[in-house]
Amino acid sequence: METTERQHYWLPVPDRTGFKWHRHAFRGKHWDGRPADTSVCGFQYPMAKPSELDWFQAPTCSDCTELLIAEQSGTGSTAEEE
Ligand SMILES: [Zn+2]
Repeated sequence: METTERQHYWLPVPDRTGFKWHRHAFRGKHWDGRPADTSVCGFQYPMAKPSELDWFQAPTCSDCTELLIAEQSGTGSTAEEE
């Protein structure tokens, strides 16, 4: 019930140049169609429905990955471990 904030999803988004795509993690269950959001690594990105090619070509953001691993390993609090 209270796990909403821990949930995240991955979405390929373009950077400011629009040429390079990276797969960033965002808070929530899934992309709800919003035009922009802040990634787990702390940057705001424009969002659009990615094509299969975007998924295939966009490398995963290492900052998002590190942050999520740190969260899941309980760096902040281990009190509410499931
Ligand atoms: Zn990221």
